Amino acid sequence: MEFVDRLLTCADCGGEFIFTAGEQLFFLDKQFKNDPKRCKPCKSRRSAQAAAPGGGPAAAGISRTETRTECSECGISTTVPFKPTQGRPVLCRQCFKNKRAPVTAPGMEASPTPAVDAVPLPSPAAVDAPLAAVAERAPAQAEMAASATQVAQA
Ligand SMILES: [Zn+2]
Ligand SMILES: [Zn+2]
Repeated sequence: MEFVDRLLTCADCGGEFIFTAGEQLFFLDKQFKNDPKRCKPCKSRRSAQAAAPGGGPAAAGISRTETRTECSECGISTTVPFKPTQGRPVLCRQCFKNKRAPVTAPGMEASPTPAVDAVPLPSPAAVDAPLAAVAERAPAQAEMAASATQVAQA
């Protein structure tokens, strides 16, 4: 079987590039069914992007799935960075704060003054988003749920 160089159009930059006879042989050998879609520079650029961690928006830790739900305390609409479990209360940021401040905490936090704006949050992703958290009993489970979601997406 004879191979001749062919001219293909890059799907990325629209430029023409040569699909050489040698490359066609290579593709046949690898049993690739499709012609290459991109020129060499575009291809290497894409694989570099794919390989580099921290390039995509997912790596920023912000854009993972936010689930829209309602606060079981005040009923306002809010989002949580994890999948709420059925039947478990989900609190908005405000209610979470309210619940945390007066209730329990028998000397677990050493700070003498109630730090109103510095409530320790279970997730760094929720810094300025309306945070909802699982009731104070199960912060660890909330974390687990959040990481489970990440794994499922990856
Ligand atoms: Zn290209
Ligand atoms: Zn609420």
